[in-house]
Amino acid sequence: MIFFPWDIEDLDAGVGPGPSASPLPRADPRTQTLELELRRLRARVESLMLANVAMWELLSAKAGFKIEHLAAKMEEIDLRDGTKDGKITPAQTCGKRGRRLSARHRRCLYCGDPNLKPA
Ligand SMILES: [Zn+2]
Repeated sequence: MIFFPWDIEDLDAGVGPGPSASPLPRADPRTQTLELELRRLRARVESLMLANVAMWELLSAKAGFKIEHLAAKMEEIDLRDGTKDGKITPAQTCGKRGRRLSARHRRCLYCGDPNLKPA
């Protein structure tokens, strides 16, 4: 399933209760740090969602793109790292042969070279 950034209900369903409804104890400093980080990430995601909705509304209204075009492009980009996981993974290349790899690898899958560079 393609996840569109403006599907707010889907996003919230996977995250759990927000900071105001947190059942976690307040006294634990680690909990407070995690809640702060969660708030920052939520704010960042909401800002990115706003930008995505604005871009999509412009593209569909001004250039005539359809939702199928967007879904196909999202799938194409998703597959650039070789894994259809609904995420964009920054790519890197092998230092020896320049083979393209997912950012999750610490060594080249083809030659074992640990000298990987951002693509
Ligand atoms: Zn290599």
